[in-house]
Amino acid sequence: MSEQQARILIIGGGFGGLFTALDLAGVGEVTLVSSEDHFLFKPMLYEYLSGEVEAWHIAPHYKELLDERVQFVQGEVTDVDLEACEATIAGRTQPQAYDVLVIAVGGVTNYARVEGAEEHAFPFRRIADADALRNRMIDTLDRIPPDAAPQDASAAATFVVVGAGASGIELSTKLADLLHDAFRRRGLQGEARVLVLEMGEQILPGMGAALREEVEGVLREAHIEVHTETRVRRVTPTSVVFEHNGAQTELRTAAVVWVGGVRVSPLIERLQLQKTEQGLLRVEPTLQVVGHKEIFSLGDDAHFTNTEPQLAGTAQLANQQATLAAANVRVLLAGDELKTHFIKELGEAMSLGTERAAVLVAGKAFTGALARQARFALYTQRLPTWHHRLKVGASWFFEGTQPRPLELRRPGD
Ligand SMILES: Cc1cc2nc3c(=O)[nH]c(=O)nc-3n(C[C@H](O)[C@H](O)[C@H](O)COP(=O)(O)OP(=O)(O)OC[C@H]3O[C@@H](n4cnc5c(N)ncnc54)[C@H](O)[C@@H]3O)c2cc1C
Repeated sequence: MSEQQARILIIGGGFGGLFTALDLAGVGEVTLVSSEDHFLFKPMLYEYLSGEVEAWHIAPHYKELLDERVQFVQGEVTDVDLEACEATIAGRTQPQAYDVLVIAVGGVTNYARVEGAEEHAFPFRRIADADALRNRMIDTLDRIPPDAAPQDASAAATFVVVGAGASGIELSTKLADLLHDAFRRRGLQGEARVLVLEMGEQILPGMGAALREEVEGVLREAHIEVHTETRVRRVTPTSVVFEHNGAQTELRTAAVVWVGGVRVSPLIERLQLQKTEQGLLRVEPTLQVVGHKEIFSLGDDAHFTNTEPQLAGTAQLANQQATLAAANVRVLLAGDELKTHFIKELGEAMSLGTERAAVLVAGKAFTGALARQARFALYTQRLPTWHHRLKVGASWFFEGTQPRPLELRRPGD
């Protein structure tokens, strides 16, 4: 098969798939199939919720990012016939044939089979999820009478975040800042309640003690109630039931947001390929799926050992793997020897509400308002394509990145 004729099919247009497609543009016939019409820079979904950034900044349409050298197909891949080398796309009669396949469909929310969680908790992985949560926050505030007693206003505006990993911390601090600000602007008495429920012993498992202490200080200042060693047992449309030390409590809630874990996507579950116990695809250090030299996988779908362990399940791992995947697809088509590359931590950042952040570089954490600016600068560099980075960087620099308050809705809005 020559490089010019090879049909390269990439499934999933996230950090792994989109960046692989951008690198491979012009090599053979590249097709990217993804379920939505836009990429999503997930690490800034919290800023989209708070209005610090707009959808076009972090969720650009593929048609703006890709040129004619990559064919984009919007659709959900439901199965792959590994013998016939064809992928089935929902709603299309013709399967999509490939010579080389790249699988990067990411993960899905893991509700851990908790009763009612999938039906009633808010997920937080897509633009539509953030829109739904913001609407719920505004609806909740709009329903509180201006003269409500403080305890009634607090009870009505109780938001629960499940999971105290980085996502739970970033989300709860954003929620608290937005809700506290809205209470002040609307002249409501009392304070909104934000709780974080975590089944483990501590917040931010796997992160350093220095950062954890800093974050705990921020959580205290924001009056976020953290409950560790606490398991969620049930979620209903209006409450959450949780258990601590054998005692169960039912709490009335305005919303429960589930950021308690990620599991492999149903497509990966369906594929007859070698997997780990957690269901991740086993890949070689070249990113080829074990036993299939024509199939590559990366990002949240792949169990990749040639990296620092703390990078598993991160955007920066998927992003760096994309460079390796694209290089190896080229080498495979040219008939040369495939490369390996040990992937290192590039530094990480976490938002801590609407006014500050933490940036971690070389094991050291910097926090505060300056860290918030540094995080925006760091993430500008990680957006896809130079053109998009320049547009977004200019917008953040000249127009600012202030949060959009939870405005009062007028009748008819
Ligand atoms: C809210 C949030 C915040 C995060 N913050 C950080 C952070 O600060 N730092 C960090 O390093 N990591 C962060 N992560 C994790 C990071 O986003 C993931 O590790 C990364 O996106 C994985 O890249 P991926 O390419 O494997 O999957 P994704 O980026 O999730 O992309 C998967 C793509 O596949 C598409 N897709 C899914 N199923 C199908 C299908 N069947 N057919 C076709 N297309 C499909 C999806 O629409 C999506 O475009 C965060 C994740 C979330 C949800």
